[in-house]
Amino acid sequence: MNDDRHRNQEVLGEDRLGRRARVFGTEQAILAGIDPGTVRGGLSAEDSMRELESLAETAGIPTLASVLQRRERPVPRTFLGKGKVEEVRRAADELGADVVIFNDELSPAQARNLEETLKRKVVDRTQLILDIFAQRAATKEARLQVELAQLRYLLPRLRGWGMALTRTGGGIGTRGPGETQLDLDRFKVNRRIHALKERLEKTADERAVRGKKRIRSPIPQVALVGYTNSGKSTLLNRLCDADSVVEDKLFATLDTMVRRGPVASGRDALFVDTVGFIRDLPHDLVPAFAATLEAVRDANLILHIVDRSRRRWDEDERVVLEILEGEVFRAEDRRPPTLLVLNKVDAVRDENADPTDAVSISAKEGTNLDDLRDRIAQTLYPSDRLVTLLVPFAAVGTLYARTTPERIEVLEHRESGMLVRARVSEQELAELKAGGVTLSASGAAQGERP
Ligand code: GDP
Ligand code: MG
Repeated sequence: MNDDRHRNQEVLGEDRLGRRARVFGTEQAILAGIDPGTVRGGLSAEDSMRELESLAETAGIPTLASVLQRRERPVPRTFLGKGKVEEVRRAADELGADVVIFNDELSPAQARNLEETLKRKVVDRTQLILDIFAQRAATKEARLQVELAQLRYLLPRLRGWGMALTRTGGGIGTRGPGETQLDLDRFKVNRRIHALKERLEKTADERAVRGKKRIRSPIPQVALVGYTNSGKSTLLNRLCDADSVVEDKLFATLDTMVRRGPVASGRDALFVDTVGFIRDLPHDLVPAFAATLEAVRDANLILHIVDRSRRRWDEDERVVLEILEGEVFRAEDRRPPTLLVLNKVDAVRDENADPTDAVSISAKEGTNLDDLRDRIAQTLYPSDRLVTLLVPFAAVGTLYARTTPERIEVLEHRESGMLVRARVSEQELAELKAGGVTLSASGAAQGERP
């Protein structure tokens, strides 16, 4: 995993430029931003800072403090006012922060000036987002898309990139790259961008072929999508045991994001968390983001989690659907069924009715989760029936091999075998019958349903 994380940057070889484009693991951050007093992308400045904190957490970086300055627009040289920059520096020294993350895109000059004054790494929102994508890019195509976005972000910033660090690290007189060096870097980056685009065209062709022979896990997969902060991780924790992390080879690159949980007695699903949608996502980053959603394409069911307590939640829903439809799926892709999950109903203040095909829950309070599990089970295991079976002793092995112990309830031991009640799919029932199992008259006559 670690090798993977860093591979993207090594393609630029000896140059030191790409390296700063990444936020590395074991760091702690101070967040900084300005509050222009207006709502952007449907978020107030405070909410936007909270989203940034959640993004930092997703990247594995805990937040030590958050500094917000009330001002209409950024200061051209240093983004924040002089006094505020000093305040951030003191806080960073006191709390031992390694990095300061700004809630906007910084100009190259701002980044350089801030790095000089703050004496530590400065990262902006776009870099942080790119870093998360890089961590989560599980397929070749996703890695190429993310690297392309990283280089495009880097290109206009080559001048002065990393100069401040070189200087602080290298002592007096150490200077940034000269013009010739810069031209060379720019040439290399451009050449790499060109090569990436060519390879991406090829992978698109390959995908059509590969999709057809993909190995599937025998346990159905449910992908959780939705905005950052809509409650995906909270729900995942509710539906799955803490120690249910799946170490399936199919998911080697996704490791901790896949968990296993029950949806009906004896019926499990694999729940896959995804990188959350981000409000105000820079347009250039959309393809890289969409590429990280590979698990969504492969899912048997998509749970679309919406924060129902937000006033414009239906707008959130629409944006997510548009990106899924326009960027994640291609014309030839099979679309998994989608279930709309309205979360945070405990915090809803309006009285508007919810759409009837949605499931309303509170992941935090655990409200209505059985309903949700039922709906998931109905989609993943549509042909499940509760039946009474007469199982000859010779077929008991088959019964346990074809089903799971949780789905079997032994009713009676008879001379000829066992009478059991079991939840089985049509196909399993057919297989059991082939193995000598018979449907018991009582169960069949009553035509039991789950
Ligand atoms: P994610 O970014 O989609 O994974 O969202 P999280 O699971 O991290 O949740 C974001 C925030 O929303 C956290 O502060 C949660 O405690 C909160 N949250 C999650 N579910 C609920 C809910 O049902 N009700 C309320 N009131 N808050 C919730
Ligand atoms: Mg999460």
